[in-house]
Amino acid sequence: MSPAEFFHRNREIAGFSNPARALYQTVRELVENSLDATETHGILPNIYVEISLDASDESKVTVTVADNGIGIPLHEVPNVFGRVFYGSKYVIRQTRGVFGLGVKMAVLYAQMTTGKPIYVRTAPIGSKVEGEYSLLIDVGRNIPYILKMRLRKKERNWHGTIVRLTLEGAWALVKKRIEEYIRRTALITPYASIRYKTPEGEIVFKRVTRELPKPPEKGLYHPRGVDIEILKEMIRSMNSDDATLKEFLTRNFESVGEKTAEEFLKWAGFDPERRIKDLRVQDLELLASKMKSYDKWRRPRSHTLSPLGAYLLEEGVKRILAPEFVAAVTRPPSSYGGHPFVVEVAVAYGGEIQPQDTPLLLRFANRMPLLYDEGVDVSRKVADSIDWSVYKVKFPAPLAVVTHVCSTKIPFKGVGKEAIADVPEVERELEAALRDAARKLRLYLVRLEKMQEVKRREVVYRKYLDEVVRSLSYITLIGEEQLRRKFEELIARELGRVSLDEEGGDSSAN
Ligand code: ADP
Ligand code: MG
Repeated sequence: MSPAEFFHRNREIAGFSNPARALYQTVRELVENSLDATETHGILPNIYVEISLDASDESKVTVTVADNGIGIPLHEVPNVFGRVFYGSKYVIRQTRGVFGLGVKMAVLYAQMTTGKPIYVRTAPIGSKVEGEYSLLIDVGRNIPYILKMRLRKKERNWHGTIVRLTLEGAWALVKKRIEEYIRRTALITPYASIRYKTPEGEIVFKRVTRELPKPPEKGLYHPRGVDIEILKEMIRSMNSDDATLKEFLTRNFESVGEKTAEEFLKWAGFDPERRIKDLRVQDLELLASKMKSYDKWRRPRSHTLSPLGAYLLEEGVKRILAPEFVAAVTRPPSSYGGHPFVVEVAVAYGGEIQPQDTPLLLRFANRMPLLYDEGVDVSRKVADSIDWSVYKVKFPAPLAVVTHVCSTKIPFKGVGKEAIADVPEVERELEAALRDAARKLRLYLVRLEKMQEVKRREVVYRKYLDEVVRSLSYITLIGEEQLRRKFEELIARELGRVSLDEEGGDSSAN
């Protein structure tokens, strides 16, 4: 069976299980490709998303996504959209797409349900030419079937891509979810301008900062992060008949020099000079398992990752949740099973956040919002396991928790890519980050409490002020005005002490 045929038959694997979910997934695939094509290359993203319904048949939905990204090399366009597993992201680094599957699933689903081809217009950066295509996928052979292709000179100096698909979708059922997806995308990309147009109207998210997170660098696998299939693929792509095992390791893996390679191979019982083309499947099995259990590798490096950083995360949270208070924390890099990862979180309180019985949770993985399967996600587990009363939060509370896991391999539960598994290392980092941010929230809430206490006292003082001033003046013969001024000073001093505490933190106001 060709890969296209396989996914054609098993589309639920890639999130295309019904017309509601398929529409959501299509928007997601297109938007994520557009963001990858901009921010990863240092371009401030301008993204336009449009959903429109066929006038005579509302179940036929057209999705258009336009970006100002680097565009697609014109000779690549047919394969990029018409060949399953064709992607150009072969190196290891944090991007949203990884399998080279996403947009092809959307193309397959569209052609299956409406018979319409995908329309693509793209202007590669630095090229004088732009191209327009309409194509379908030849499912049996997993190759693109091009219906229309037109190349022409760019009329103006632009770069980017416009993609349009018409599929069967249940707009009414899924529009809330898609809007939420767009909102959360705007949260995690405060540097992006996003215009979202639907039959119901238009929402515009203007960028709130021009600062982009540092893009991820390209890297190699860590020896602990591979399996037999990856090893086979690496050997195949080395394309060399006489490469030795030692050469294989030093060339294909992060931080493995000759000495490390030799020591490991001796430990694992392999001859370092053995040729890789002589390895049998049993040898590869042994090699993979030894690579996983060897404990002297250097730690995976995190240069391939691109967390937002506390500042951008806070800006994003303010943009979308408009809280009264927000604190973000980015943890130092860590790793699980040979894969580097970084966890960052934000805790937001008050403002436009509605009080709820449990923390409102917004999850992200590699800057992708996760909207489904929240109940089984490790972030839910960690957020719920924290005793928030320790941090002065009393439910129902206007509390939101934002979690972002960045990794070259997100430990997703299942293929739906919507929930992160409770890998102990990730769980630990999430908890540490959340507690750190929660402590900052606690300081704020303690201060707030004191302010409120002082305000309450002030109200009481003022209630009796006139009477006290009158009586005191009668007894002491001091003028009412003078007494009143004295009292006002006292009240002001009391209030002032609390605002001084803003720097002092947790000290007592009394
Ligand atoms: P993945 O995102 O997993 O790599 P996709 O099937 O979604 O797989 O996309 C395949 C490739 O097509 C991407 O890796 C990217 O190189 C290219 N591509 C898709 N959409 C765009 C776009 N809007 N701008 C530039 N390149 C794109
Ligand atoms: Mg993709």
